[in-house]
Amino acid sequence: SRAGWWPRDTSMKITEVVSHVLRYDLPEELGYSQQFYAARTAHLVEVRTDEGLIGWGECFGPGNVALANKAIVERVIQPLIVGRDPLDREVVWHHVYNLLRDHGQKGMPVQALSGVDIALWDLSAKIAGLPLSKMMGGQFRDRVPVYGYGMMLKREDAASHVARFREEAAGIKEAGFKATKMKIGLGVADDIRLAEAVRLGVGDDFDFMVDANHCYTLGDAMRVGHALDELGAYWFEEPVAPEDQEGYHELRVALDTNVSGGEVEYTRWGWRQLLEGRCLDIAQPEVCALGGISEYLKVLSMAHTHLTPVVPHVWGSAVAVSVNLHLLAAMPPVPGGLNPREPMLEFDTTHNLFRDELLAEPLDIQGQVRRSGGYASVPSGPGLGVEPDRDFIARYEVS
Ligand code: CA
Repeated sequence: SRAGWWPRDTSMKITEVVSHVLRYDLPEELGYSQQFYAARTAHLVEVRTDEGLIGWGECFGPGNVALANKAIVERVIQPLIVGRDPLDREVVWHHVYNLLRDHGQKGMPVQALSGVDIALWDLSAKIAGLPLSKMMGGQFRDRVPVYGYGMMLKREDAASHVARFREEAAGIKEAGFKATKMKIGLGVADDIRLAEAVRLGVGDDFDFMVDANHCYTLGDAMRVGHALDELGAYWFEEPVAPEDQEGYHELRVALDTNVSGGEVEYTRWGWRQLLEGRCLDIAQPEVCALGGISEYLKVLSMAHTHLTPVVPHVWGSAVAVSVNLHLLAAMPPVPGGLNPREPMLEFDTTHNLFRDELLAEPLDIQGQVRRSGGYASVPSGPGLGVEPDRDFIARYEVS
């Protein structure tokens, strides 16, 4: 017989991995520097077990990418992990990654694995009867500050963008958010006018951030960056193509404004390059893409090894928002102090049914922010602490 401290054999087994791609037409088209989009998608993953317990996860990847990822989840990953213990998260991760490595160390295979890994963490925390953040080492904070992003591009002229951005920025501040983030991508001169409009909209004592979604060459990014220095922007996100790591580093050295990015980087090996290259003032890992929570924790640890603060990239449904609330709760302050700058939750203020209506009990981040002056609380139930509504899923499922 085993000694008392020996871990019990859960004997629980994974029986099925099912993914759901949800889609709806947006009331109005939204744009960023690369494209306009008229529909929103979300890709949820559920891992089922022989004891009836279910874990939920989410994969990053919009539109038809989500449909391709669904095939990877169900046809490639599922057969590799059925029959395994859901607590064996690292074993599962290594087994799947090692066999997919020859077919893609970044991008869609890793996005697909991310949703499965998150569902295994949800299951593990439910088995332990603990909130996810407790499983990850405990909560440094039970509520997190929230920044509201909006100010998307539309098919309208620069002058209309300028007027709308100023108004929208003021509205996001008025709604209670701690800071705000805008898109750019009209070209250097117009983008600088947009940033000036947002500064006017929020006033002098409020942080605003600028997201280029990697539309610039280094030279143009430098010109915009110097203008952002004058305006006191808090960060300049994805200024240049993610492949241009030297460009990131040169911007970081030249600008006062924080250089941020990393939402399209994958696994510890991808992040190693960004961090050792001293490319970022602020790291923005996307847990639903980079390899799930197991891999996120390694990237977080590596970022903090470099004393680089992390403000996670957040996109998707209420499942992704909930995962990130737990990640933010469990994140140590860097470097520490009486008045540290707290990591923030990224919150998309545009129309998103999959965040607002997916759960039987919605998170109501907007309401929380309004009532608390800019904070969201961390779900307290076991696992992610959220339960997707199956009727809602059935209504929007396209696959
Ligand atoms: Ca971004």
